[in-house]
Amino acid sequence: MDADQLREHAHKMVDFIADYYKSIENFPVLSQVEPGYLSRMLPDSAPNHPESLEDIFNDISAKILPGVTHWQSPNYFAYFPSNSSIAGFLGEMLSAGLNIVGFSWITSPAATELEMIVLDWLAKLLKLPDDFLSGGKGGGVIQGTASEAVLVVLLAARDKMLRTVGKNALEKLVVYASNQTHSALQKACQIGGIQPENCRLLETDSTSNYALSPDVLCEAIAHDIAIGLIPFFLCATVGTTSSTAVDPLLPLGKIAKSKGMWFHVDAAYAGSACICPEYRHYIDGVEEADSFNMNAHKWFLTNFDCSALWIKDRNALAQSLSTNPEFLKNKASQANMVVDYKDWQIPLGRRFRSLKLWMVLRLYGIENLQCYIRNHIKLAQQFEVLVAQDPRFEVVNPRIFSLVCFRLLPSQNSKDHGNELNHHLLDTVNSTGKVFLSHTVLSGKYILRFAVGAPLTEERHVTAAWKVLQDEASALLRSFLQ
Ligand code: PLP
Repeated sequence: MDADQLREHAHKMVDFIADYYKSIENFPVLSQVEPGYLSRMLPDSAPNHPESLEDIFNDISAKILPGVTHWQSPNYFAYFPSNSSIAGFLGEMLSAGLNIVGFSWITSPAATELEMIVLDWLAKLLKLPDDFLSGGKGGGVIQGTASEAVLVVLLAARDKMLRTVGKNALEKLVVYASNQTHSALQKACQIGGIQPENCRLLETDSTSNYALSPDVLCEAIAHDIAIGLIPFFLCATVGTTSSTAVDPLLPLGKIAKSKGMWFHVDAAYAGSACICPEYRHYIDGVEEADSFNMNAHKWFLTNFDCSALWIKDRNALAQSLSTNPEFLKNKASQANMVVDYKDWQIPLGRRFRSLKLWMVLRLYGIENLQCYIRNHIKLAQQFEVLVAQDPRFEVVNPRIFSLVCFRLLPSQNSKDHGNELNHHLLDTVNSTGKVFLSHTVLSGKYILRFAVGAPLTEERHVTAAWKVLQDEASALLRSFLQ
């Protein structure tokens, strides 16, 4: 590593990235390339001799950027946001610069200790119960994604139950969640050896705004116990991926507790909103939870990846995930004086991810972070009003956070509830390159999702997006009438 060369090249890279952000609105938000485009543009083997940075920058502009979907574009409204910020970027840069591998405390004490401190800060900001703080038996850890978070807690819960009921009972263990739960849970079950038929995705409908009903849960548990199965894990979601439904944590948690089950709360997207006092009530009942997860890399200005997981009993995680080979032994770990995060996650190695979250919290401060969330929710409200004012459209279910679910109303003789029409609308809108939205299906209806949350989005982008949607809808309705 030549420090002078680093300085020179890194300055060029920062300039390149800054120019990218300046011109980000000029790119089609959704990449318009065809599959396999890149192999036609790049050589089929690595160069024998070094190439210049200039040549690489030219290739990035000509060959890579066309194949990028611009998640940071202010006209990006698809899936859920994945925030970048200067603070997050700087933290990421420092983490790359130090490039430590912090699996045990000894490998970089600051990495472990900063992670514990920053997750305690965030837990306090979310008003999580003290049991989740690092001072007691619990604590927080940064996972790569919400999928890894639910996997590690499912493994901990599984093993905890098997220690009670006997190792041979694996086939009898049952997991519960709503049918709106992210597929990450299903993947965790697959990895965790849970029988596919024992992963109960319980029915929800529009009458409860797609939230899991405690009565439905009780019924399913009673049925399973009656046939000799063992309920062990409940996953509730605050802010489901399709429509931001909020499962009622308090009654669900009480049921889980009464049956000796592990209760996990997935607030991957909506958890960020709960730093505002007026939205905190959506996680009321979190005191019943054994684990709680929110993705700071979604809507909290922290560059991907940074998924915050809190757990009340850190020993439960370690009992499932800990190994202690000779080559990792050291005085601090052996004396049980420190946290070794290798025992809280799947991989051994881990990055210094707390730096970026620390920088976000410090460079913004709580008040600015709250304003940031409120602004996106206000923009989503404005979009919702625009949709409601156009009689050709409907807002499908009440907006809670910064996602609006809506659709073009079908004609009365439509055979498929307007699904084809809305599918077409999404395709034509996205192929303009002016905006990017995604979709879901709720109660058999194809629905468009407008998720506000990109850091650069302003009111003008929301109104411009609505104009694109209206124009494309007009053209489409004309063509459907012909
Ligand atoms: N849970 C919810 C509610 C989500 O919305 C998502 C992704 O959007 C996930 C889990 C999975 O997130 P990750 O990509 O961090 O695994």
